[in-house]
Amino acid sequence: MTSPTIVWLRRDLRLADQAAFVAAAAAGPVIPVYVLDDETPKHRRMGAASRWWLHYSLASLDADLRKRGSRLILRRGRCETVLADLARETGAATVHCLRHYEPWWRNAERAVGEVLDLQRHHGNYLAPPGSITTGSGGPYKIYTPFWRALEARMPPAAPQPAPQSLPAPAAWPASDNLADWNLLPTTPDWAGGMRDEWTPGEAGAADRLAAFLPRARVYSERRNLPSVSGTSRLSPHLHFGEVSPAALWHAAAERGGSVGTFLGELGWRDYAQNVILQMPDYAGKPAREAFEEFPWRDDPVGLKAWQQGCTGYPIVDAGMRELWATGWMHNRVRMIAASFLIKHLLIDWREGERWFWDTLVDADYGSNAVNWQWSAGTGVDSNMFVRIMAPLTQSPKFDAAGYIRQWVPELAHLDDTRIHDPDVRPRAYPPRIVGHAEARARALAAYGEWNDRG
Ligand code: FAD
Repeated sequence: MTSPTIVWLRRDLRLADQAAFVAAAAAGPVIPVYVLDDETPKHRRMGAASRWWLHYSLASLDADLRKRGSRLILRRGRCETVLADLARETGAATVHCLRHYEPWWRNAERAVGEVLDLQRHHGNYLAPPGSITTGSGGPYKIYTPFWRALEARMPPAAPQPAPQSLPAPAAWPASDNLADWNLLPTTPDWAGGMRDEWTPGEAGAADRLAAFLPRARVYSERRNLPSVSGTSRLSPHLHFGEVSPAALWHAAAERGGSVGTFLGELGWRDYAQNVILQMPDYAGKPAREAFEEFPWRDDPVGLKAWQQGCTGYPIVDAGMRELWATGWMHNRVRMIAASFLIKHLLIDWREGERWFWDTLVDADYGSNAVNWQWSAGTGVDSNMFVRIMAPLTQSPKFDAAGYIRQWVPELAHLDDTRIHDPDVRPRAYPPRIVGHAEARARALAAYGEWNDRG
């Protein structure tokens, strides 16, 4: 019998439009494997919400594989050691995978490539990160010209259907038991809201997409309104690779009409990968280096109030509570909440990045860091620091009354006008931790002093 081929899965937990499976199945028997690496130094450990998602996504992929005569092998440890051991045990000579661009995955791919024949394929982005270059061949730093160049290369190749069956090896190697990985929270079990909201896995992604497509035409009008279902909520599915961006592009584009804004958001996802390819430390270092000297405040009380949704600003608190309950937050509200932490509280954006990393089900190294640096004004392409979002103005502007009512029950009895900025605060709702005018003046003064020094 032909020796088997390993498919090394990471954030590409799908069967459809998965080039690694296509290439491996063409060569003979396939051994799909997921390696949980909590050992390698500098391998950023997945946050708690992501680990919850991962558990169910792996279970779903295993069930889908079993319907095709295959199964998912689970192993723990350093990728290069685990994959080399697996190859030795099974006689596999080649490993196929999709390429990933987080610095630790690039290191892992290098290490695996040194000990095995590693074949890397494109598939998790619209275009391979690093391939969209300026006229002089350099990488783009700014989103708009990047998007123009990317769009000119679209559409992506048509997506491949999932294989009907996958050739199995003569004998299956041993696998860990998923439950033994303890990816799910137990004491306390804080994942109830996430279970209600999400169905991790390829079928869950397909359902989300089917629900969104009829609304794709009105995306540009509704995407900024947190009280309505205006966006796709596909971000965790995209992050874990349960749907390919190419499949999404074709499905949306086939709808016709004005889906350009939606496709442009997918472009931001590609853009973020291009940024971390150029600046791998993007989550830890401001792109504008002078910001390393910025006088951020050390304010554990303020940070905790922000994390717990107890700032006294209804729109900020609604967002932070939605995040805690469901592992997701509406994009407009993410921008408001991020601005509040950075400008109103003058807390280092990296604290926010870390909190989102731990609590978002779509926590993504590139997208999270790029958006935090955008909000802070520290990034290569970013909002200016002195642009301070006023939460009490943003809230009525984007019609957030229904959203606040859902997530801040203490305010649910207030009418659509008073709910954004209650003049008489219900006793159960926390007082404002800082006044808006005072916070704004403090932020501008800190910026001014820092700027003068620089
Ligand atoms: P839709 O509006 O339906 O957009 C479709 C897809 O495009 C999304 O699923 C996502 O993959 C991509 N996308 C949309 N907006 C952006 C964006 N600004 N940057 C990059 N990709 C985008 N997104 C993440 O996927 N992971 C993160 O860790 C993350 N952290 C963020 C942190 C901050 C402070 C902010 C302001 C934004 C962050 N975003 C992040 C971007 C954005 O908020 C989410 O992608 C979006 O809310 C997901 O909802 P959706 O799937 O309904 O998006």
